[in-house]
Formats: sequence, C-alpha cells, structure tokens
Amino acid sequence: MSSVPYDQREGVIWMNGDMVDWPDAKLHVLSHGLHYGSAVFEGIRAYGGQIFELTQHNQRLHESAKILGFEIPYSVEEIDKACRDVMAQNGLVEAYIRPIAWRGSEMMGVSAQETRINLAISAWDWGKYFDPEAQLKGIRMAIADYCRPDPRTAPTQSKAVGLYMICTIEKHKAEAAGYEDALMLDWRGQVAEATGANVFFVKDGVIHTPTPDCFLDGITRRSVMNLAKARGYEVIERVIMPDELSEFSECFITGTAAEVTAVAEIGPYKFTPGTITETLMNDYSALVRPVESVAATG
Ligand code: PMP
Repeated sequence: MSSVPYDQREGVIWMNGDMVDWPDAKLHVLSHGLHYGSAVFEGIRAYGGQIFELTQHNQRLHESAKILGFEIPYSVEEIDKACRDVMAQNGLVEAYIRPIAWRGSEMMGVSAQETRINLAISAWDWGKYFDPEAQLKGIRMAIADYCRPDPRTAPTQSKAVGLYMICTIEKHKAEAAGYEDALMLDWRGQVAEATGANVFFVKDGVIHTPTPDCFLDGITRRSVMNLAKARGYEVIERVIMPDELSEFSECFITGTAAEVTAVAEIGPYKFTPGTITETLMNDYSALVRPVESVAATG
C-alpha cells in the first residue's frame, strides 16, 4: 500500500466538469456534505481497461442522490464519460473509481435547499481489498454491535456517506480484535451484510443470502447470483437468523472492492471455503476481465 496520503497524490481528478490537479481537488470546511452527511458516492472497478457495470453504478449514484433529496447536475451518460476520462488521463488500466456528490457551502444549517450539488470523480489502482491469500482461505469476521437500521430510520437503499459511520466503527473494532471485518445484523436481529459487502452462505449445495430490504442490494451481489444460477445452483433470498450460521458449510462476501472473498469464521462459527465459493470467485474474475484479444493469445 502506498504511504502517500490520498490528498497528495499525482494525477488529475474530475471536479464539477473540469480536470484539476490531484492536490487541488478541494472543498471548503463549511460544506453541507461534511457537516450534515448530505453526500452519496460509488465504488467502481475497472479491469484491463474495462469498467465493470459502469452505467449501473452511475444510475445508482443518481438514485442515491434522489433518495437524499437532491439531483446530480450531470446525466448518467456524462458521469460515465467522466469516469472513462479520469481513467484515461491518469493512465490507469486497473482502477478503483470513486465518484462522490455532495451539497456545497451556499447554505449552512439543516435546511440546504439552495446548495450547489458538487460532483468529483477520482481513480487509483487499489489492488485487493483483503490480503489475496485471505481472499481464498477465508477472512475472519467478528459480529458487530451496531445494526443495519430500519428503513424508517435511515435511507438504507442509498449509498449515502452517513450510513458508513457505523461501518467504520465496527471495522475498526473488528481489526483491533484481530479480525478482518464484521458481520452486521439488522434492526430485527437478522443477518444483514459485512461493513462494505454482501454475504452469502452454502448449505447442502444450495446458496442462501439475506433479502436486501434494509441494506444495499449490491451490483456484485446480483452479478454473482446470476453466475450461480448459470452454473445451475439454487439461490435462495430469505431471512437468515444468526443461530443458523452453524448449519452452513461455506460463506463468502461480495462487493466491488471485496470482489468474491471467502469467509472462514464469523464469531464462533466456522466455515470451510469449498467448491461453490471457488467456482464463483473464478467465474466473477472471468466476468469482470475483458476477454484477452484472440490475436494476442493466438
Ligand atoms: N454493502 C455495503 C455496505 C457496501 O459498501 C457495498 C459496496 N458498495 C456493498 C454492500 C456491495 O455493493 P456493490 O456490489 O454494488 O459494490
């Protein structure tokens, strides 16, 4: 991991329609997004120069903003193009792309009707989210104290920055206790997701995953469910209670950053990464990587 802080790197960042030098992509301390959490973002990956599900991500960005009551002043097509331009101008082939939209400084206070909606898009080569060896062998997860909130408590279908407050607290607690991540339950005590990824389980060759009714229905989640179905695996979305975890043989998490990552432990429960996890990991890698040119490979 590079030790250069994220605000001091080389390259360019797309900001409100212009490419600005990386260290100059700044916002003022009196920004509504910073004070009141009026900001939404995306995490997108590119493999071999090709951005995976770019438009789906930027549609979700628009949708997330709408849920928070603001409209991003750039179309999905314009944001798609800006993401491609940022990659190209930074000379990136493997990339993590981070669009973020936030309310600006024109008003301070809970009411922010007249604030400018800003959009910035950065991109960098992020590598693997978890240690590559752990991704195969299985990460260890704690069980979080904070719960994914009731949709009446927070805009749970929006990828809004405020929803990550409890994720960072739980991720830090888990890391301090020697784990890689934490499993979050929801407000009803049902299994929900990891701090930045969705979760799947395997029992008797069948895949089970919680119904995403109070957390993100991840783009990776849906891709992996399609890959599983294409392999003939049954995938059941349902309520999963934590005391069922002892019945599952395999467990994995999915997300743009985490990709498909095996899980070996959740609190007292143990899993053995097996055929289904490995198959879906490989199928996902094949799906996101552009096919090598036939001429180049003969
Ligand atoms: N849940 C949370 C809390 C996340 O941060 C992410 C990553 N965006 C996901 C699920 C998975 O979403 P996706 O597959 O669309 O990246």
